[in-house]
Amino acid sequence: MKMQVAWFHRYGEPEELVLEETNRPTPGPGEAVVRVRAVGVNHVDLDVRAGTARVPIEFPHILGREFAGEVASLGDASGRFKEGDRVWVASRLACGQCEFCWTARDNLCARGHFFGMGLPGGYAQYVKVPLVALRALPAQLGFEEAAASQIAFGTAWHVLMNRGQLQAGQTVLIQAAGSGIGSAAVQVAKFAGATVLATASTDAKLARAQALGADHLINYSQQPAFSAQVMALTDGQGVDLVMEHVGGNVFTESLASLKVDGKMVTVGAHAGEVVPLDIIPFFRRQLQLIGSRNANFAELDTVMNLVAQGRFKPVIHAALPLAQAAQAHRMMGSRDIFGKVVLLP
Ligand SMILES: [Zn+2]
Repeated sequence: MKMQVAWFHRYGEPEELVLEETNRPTPGPGEAVVRVRAVGVNHVDLDVRAGTARVPIEFPHILGREFAGEVASLGDASGRFKEGDRVWVASRLACGQCEFCWTARDNLCARGHFFGMGLPGGYAQYVKVPLVALRALPAQLGFEEAAASQIAFGTAWHVLMNRGQLQAGQTVLIQAAGSGIGSAAVQVAKFAGATVLATASTDAKLARAQALGADHLINYSQQPAFSAQVMALTDGQGVDLVMEHVGGNVFTESLASLKVDGKMVTVGAHAGEVVPLDIIPFFRRQLQLIGSRNANFAELDTVMNLVAQGRFKPVIHAALPLAQAAQAHRMMGSRDIFGKVVLLP
């Protein structure tokens, strides 16, 4: 039994992603094979393909961290799932036996595995998945929406609610609100009852962020020194919390946008990984700089339930057939998008 897959045989440009046929996986005990209906494209996919992600892979490699579909076959009888069930798949596996797994910090498990990284991912018609990673997909939630939600909302939730401890009534600055994670973070922050300041590179993206609930809009292409505008919008106080996932000058300006005793959570650095840090205002203003990874399993379940209830709406820029995986990567790389790009195997 064959399947179609969009994989790459060597690092390089988007054109290295080629649609080919390979053998369909077969499930062993405790495993299912999922017929993938939609898979979300993430920025790290571009980095893995280009060879800059510092993630060890074997060629040919199948990307695709978050996907949804139907159970095609089971390795043995499962009490929870049967063939044809609609499912989404947790984007990673954890060992279940380390101090992090035991303390609801399974996102830090050093023995974890990620689909689309160490494990074959969702840029394929079929993926082998341990049953422990399967989640029932509610009837009202479409495959595309499910594939566009897990990482954006999960990470935004982890950053704002877990690492940032965002409270109702606080002010929060969300960087790059036009990105998948940024558009999700605007919604999570409004859900938490915060006042949201959002940045983006164009006025068109800012208008979309406003439609998602952003209260104040900042165009950081026109105003690279945007901390002055943040101060003006907050009576000279600054914001309680910043979600920063850009890096470079945006990191520096974000730190300068904080209120005394404010927190900044950093979760990405595409625009510059090494930045200057003036230590004196950092301690005098009693600031906190907090690193973050992606969501733990409980948070993934929480956000997917909220998406299913319609409280969070994934923003999908485009859904393309799997054969256009290279085009999807070019689209993501251009950054001239608002929300997520999804592939349909
Ligand atoms: Zn573990």
